[in-house]
Formats: sequence, structure tokens, C-alpha cells
Amino acid sequence: MSKKVERVKCLIIGSGPAGYTAAIYASRANLFPVLYTGKEIGGQLITTTDVENYPGYPDGVLGPQMMEDFRKQAERFGTQVRYSLIEKVDFTGPVHRAWADDGSIIHADTVIIATGASAKWLGLESERRLTNRGVSACAVCDGFFFRGTDVAIVGAGDTAAEEALYLSKLSPKVHMIVRRDEMRASKIMQDRVKRTPNIEIHWNTETLEVLGKDEVEGVRVLNSITRVETVLPVKGFFVAIGHKPNTDIFKDWLDMDESGYIITKPDSTKTGIEGVFVAGDAQDKVFRQAVTAAGTGCMAALEAERYLAEHEVIEAVSTSTNY
Ligand code: NDP
Repeated sequence: MSKKVERVKCLIIGSGPAGYTAAIYASRANLFPVLYTGKEIGGQLITTTDVENYPGYPDGVLGPQMMEDFRKQAERFGTQVRYSLIEKVDFTGPVHRAWADDGSIIHADTVIIATGASAKWLGLESERRLTNRGVSACAVCDGFFFRGTDVAIVGAGDTAAEEALYLSKLSPKVHMIVRRDEMRASKIMQDRVKRTPNIEIHWNTETLEVLGKDEVEGVRVLNSITRVETVLPVKGFFVAIGHKPNTDIFKDWLDMDESGYIITKPDSTKTGIEGVFVAGDAQDKVFRQAVTAAGTGCMAALEAERYLAEHEVIEAVSTSTNY
């Protein structure tokens, strides 16, 4: 069977704030971008309810609605949005190749990777059922909704420490559930957590169940040394046990850290391969906000545009050829 091969100036992989923002900028610069959404159309925001910290929405907005707005804005300037997944790439170059699960093959002068990351979860049935009803994987996004009430956070890395500190400014009491007798977070962050009077650390403690029918009413935990079970009476339960960047298909081509985050050149979205840029959570393990992802999406599109101008890449794009 013949495969449809398409030559494009700019291929964008991913449909979160980074991907759509890159698309808005790239389409307004006449790069005629083609954006592949991936399986989770809209990215992590699609599983979020209210977003109140994205500028421009004074009354807040639902995550899925916001991503719909981003998509429409990108399409308004000519971005072609394809509801398929890029499964494989070949960055031997100079033209970069990508294979989609709809059977198409893209030959792209520039590629913007915006595949994001996925939060890790404990895997409890109650956690899944109460997600967005008091269970969240982002304290900065959702902590505000629980201000004035006691909350719990599970995890012991830098993210958990940072988020526990953030929550301690909103909640009278923050229960931090740590599965071992030490924390993985940097010493300075551990010290800050330990010095904060309204954070109580529960060492050697495992989460057994998030309690509540329609909203979180508490968390049942077990001390693995004493074998004593306790219920922490909280309204919010935050999971901060790490993220996994969605970068597996790029691992043969791009430099990554030990967790799979793609490494960029300083102050840039450039990767080690000419014409390949990365934006959003696929390269950011520190900030992970919609607005920062959008910012790096903008940077990636501007850098792609500059790269094309410098390399005088041939015109006449989006012409399809049947091989
Ligand atoms: P990490 O992988 O560093 O930490 C994950 C934490 O979650 C560990 O303490 C781990 O416990 C715990 N954990 C994992 N699975 C479970 C489970 N099933 N039940 C209970 N606890 C569990 O992830 P982070 O997101 O914290 O950090 C990722 C990277 O980003 C790190 O390199 C970090 O330093 C960096 N970072 C830097 C920041 C900054 O510079 N400001 C801010 C945030 C992150 P255990 O220790 O027992 O394995």
C-alpha cells in the first residue's frame, strides 16, 4: 500500500498549551504548521476542572474549555490540527521524518516537540474516583480551592516539599505522607518543610485509601513500622510522587536526563539536533504550569522561524506526494 508522504515546514507534536501556542506563533509567521494532537487531546489540562491562574480569564475557565480556545486560535491562523499520534521519528536529517498512526509520513524542516508529561499516581481505586473532587496532582493549580481546610500531600521529593510549603500558606494544617524514614528532597527544601509549624510529616507511612463518596473526606494511612492505621481528616489530597515526560519516541535521538526530560541549550528551546525544538513539560520538570508551557511554545516557534530563515528552506510546503 502506498503511504502518503507530506513535506511541511513545521511539525508540532502535542496539543497542550505549549503545542497550541507554538502553533499560533508558527501559523502567524506563515510556517503552515501541522499539529498532531496525540492521544490525550489538550494534554493534562483536559483532566483539570477550574483554571484560575491563567492570565486573561478573570473568572477562571474549565481546563477543557481553555484548550478548546487555544485550538480555535491556532486554527484561525491556518494550523492544521490532526487527531492522531506520532509513533516514530527519524532525526537523521536534514529533513526530519515522523510516522503517524493514521498512516501518514511527515517530512518536516522543523519539529517542535510539545508532548508534555503525565503525573504519576498511587494507583488506588479511590484516588482515581475522587480525582478533581479533592484529589489533585498539582497543588499550585488546585491548592487555592482548599484554602482554610486541612489537606494531605503524598511524596518526599522536591516537588512534594515545594507543594507542601505552598499549601502551608493556604491551609491551617498540611499532612505530608512520606513512605520511608527520610526524604529525597534537597536538604534546603527538607529543612524548610521541617521548620514550617503547620506541616506535620508522617514518616514510614503508606496511603491505603482516600475516603469520601463524592468528595474527599479523609485519607486512611498505615504506619509501616507500628502497623497502626489512622484517618487524616482532610478535604484535599495531593499526589506529588513524580511525573513521567512523554518522550519515549525521542530517546534514540535527543539528550535527556535520567528521568527522560529532554535537555535544551541554555536560554533556548533548541535540542542537540538542528531544527528540532522542545517546549513545555517535555523539557520542564521545575515549573510545569500552563503559562510557562505556553511561554516556551512561543519561544520554540520563534526559534523555528529563525532557523528556517537562516537555512532558506524551500518554499511550497504542505504539498502531498504519494510514494
Ligand atoms: P522525585 O522522583 O524526585 O520524587 C518522587 C518522590 O515520591 C520520592 O520521594 C518517592 O519516594 C515518592 N514516591 C514515589 N512513588 C511513591 C508511592 N507509590 N508512594 C509514596 N511515595 C512515592 O520527583 P519530583 O517530582 O519531586 O522531582 C523530579 C525532579 O525534579 C527531581 O530531580 C527534583 O529535584 C526536580 N525538581 C526541582 C525543583 C526545583 O529545583 N525547584 C522543583 C521540583 C522538582 P522515595 O524517596 O521513597 O522513592
